[in-house]
Amino acid sequence: MPGKSRIWCALVHYPVLDREGNVVTTSVTNMDVHDMSRACKTYGVGSLVVTTPIDIHREMVEKVAAHWQDPFIWKRTPSRRHALELVRVVESIEAASALMEREGGGRPDIIGTTAKRCRRAISYETLKKQIIADPQKPRLLVFGTGWGLAPQAMDMCGCILEPVEGAGEYCHLSVRSAAAIILDRLLGKK
Ligand code: SAM
Repeated sequence: MPGKSRIWCALVHYPVLDREGNVVTTSVTNMDVHDMSRACKTYGVGSLVVTTPIDIHREMVEKVAAHWQDPFIWKRTPSRRHALELVRVVESIEAASALMEREGGGRPDIIGTTAKRCRRAISYETLKKQIIADPQKPRLLVFGTGWGLAPQAMDMCGCILEPVEGAGEYCHLSVRSAAAIILDRLLGKK
């Protein structure tokens, strides 16, 4: 069963951008689901909601997550089972928010992530302070795929986190790496 934390993550496959800036649906990547669920479990996130409008992709993710709940499969690697049990699958960001409203403590604040600088971005310090001040408030951290969340997805976000910046100009993290860094900044002990 998903954890009780009031912070959930969503991995979004629509609406996202492609390299030309078109709004598209991306394919689900198995590695994203495995790695992000492990990061979510490590940092105490309640659920990782994978969103895709493609029925067969939802079925595939559900099968992968269910596979790891089989004792015959997980007995040698129980850590994988505990991570993948956080995975939920729905068709859209709206559905992820509705799921959290029903099962995650209430209607969440939707918090966007992006590699791009954005005028209304808030810092990790600010959000971390808000989380510490009000840990019971439901919050849904939204991560994009492809070339990032499309404008209509960003518009659904009550706030956007500043980008994770590296040592220089190059800033092309995978969603898995970005999610792990962001969760550490918001929920890590240090
Ligand atoms: N240029 C895209 C963008 O605007 O975010 C990069 C897309 S990246 C492959 C997919 C997702 O990973 C983004 O939607 C975001 O959730 C996350 N991400 C990647 N790099 C990030 C960064 N430097 N800071 C914050 N999030 C990042």
